[in-house]
Amino acid sequence: MSDIDAGIASLGDLGGKRVLVRSDLNVPLDGAGTAEVRITDDGRIRASVPTIRQLSDAGARVVVTAHLGRPDGKPDPAYSLKPVADRLSELLGRPVAFAADTVGASATETVAALGDGDVAVLENVRFNAGETSKDEAVRGAFADELAALADAFVSDGFGVVHRKQASVYDVALRLPSAMGGLVAAEVDVLRRLTEHPDRPYVVVLGGSKVSDKLGVIDNLIDKADRLLIGGGMVFTFLKAQGHEVGRSLLEDDQLDTCRRYLTEAADRGVEIVLPTDVVVDTEFPSGERDPQPRVVPASEIPADALGLDIGPESAAAFAAALADARTVFWNGPMGVFEVDAFADGTRAVAQALTEVDGLSVVGGGDSAAAVRQLGFDEAAFGHISTGGGASLEFLEGKELPGIAVLEKD
Ligand code: ADP
Ligand code: MG
Repeated sequence: MSDIDAGIASLGDLGGKRVLVRSDLNVPLDGAGTAEVRITDDGRIRASVPTIRQLSDAGARVVVTAHLGRPDGKPDPAYSLKPVADRLSELLGRPVAFAADTVGASATETVAALGDGDVAVLENVRFNAGETSKDEAVRGAFADELAALADAFVSDGFGVVHRKQASVYDVALRLPSAMGGLVAAEVDVLRRLTEHPDRPYVVVLGGSKVSDKLGVIDNLIDKADRLLIGGGMVFTFLKAQGHEVGRSLLEDDQLDTCRRYLTEAADRGVEIVLPTDVVVDTEFPSGERDPQPRVVPASEIPADALGLDIGPESAAAFAAALADARTVFWNGPMGVFEVDAFADGTRAVAQALTEVDGLSVVGGGDSAAAVRQLGFDEAAFGHISTGGGASLEFLEGKELPGIAVLEKD
């Protein structure tokens, strides 16, 4: 019994009901496992608050399940969700109970003690081998235990909806289920990128490897009006056009694929924009040596150099190609933005996105990090996806198990 559009409302009156909500609370920690543990970025907790608050306000007994890091299917204090539960309590402005296990005696007691509107967090769901097991029966048995703690399920962890895991997928088969607002908002934006986007629709791709992004290129090449390519992946495209790329990142086994994309784009009237100049250095940046950036034409990369950013002429051309866009999807930094000397291309693209009159979407973990690191106001973008892997899989046209299961009755 689930209705994707109605979201939580489809679950009916939640007063007094135990609602299990799968959130994405996978935040970076400093000093994990020590008394001085500190959350270094609480963005995901903040993003999870509205749905938790909504359920609590509706009088539900809210049971939050989530993972932290990659423990080995067994308890490990370094990955405890306790500090996260404490932070959630601060953000909610109300007490949050914490169960010392996920489905054991502590969880059962904690949930039984909840009053209407109360909130509890269960210990790291990945302390249980059943959570990520490839064996359906093992996963199902664990999902049975999770489901026994609740009367309904709300899926609100967008960062995990592409995973067929017990707390994401199997539990939804066992309880009346609905999408939380966070997942619903992500899905809504991603649908706008794949179904009837406002035009011109410009896709900007960068990042390290072509092979990571083949699915996205495949699926978006016939939807976009323009495809701008930078980052490490661009050198395989430049080489496919017959240019030498020195010691730049290169995936020889993808040359044919890149050639095919170039031809396909030309056939379909999709404009492909590649950099005409590149910032190079003779070494990949490391702490040991100051970068010595040099701008060269993209057709004249010296044999001993590596391309580490798109050049200023290209950055201006990319910005111009974005100026009239009505829909933009950007994934993958234009260069090694972590180092200032190679961050200008990424900065220029980010800046251009903030000026788009329409929908601008940033997807991908490093791209979202770049936007923050370069000091942009996140509110200047239409949407910054919270789930890198999940958003890419959606844009590849893949079915996301954690979404599909909610659409099933
Ligand atoms: P996202 O996480 O946004 O999907 P990726 O993981 O694909 O992005 O790529 C991010 C990484 O790509 C960054 O760490 C960046 O340093 C690297 N990168 C960008 N341009 C280059 C380049 N020219 N050479 C090597 N690495 C690059
Ligand atoms: Mg990445």
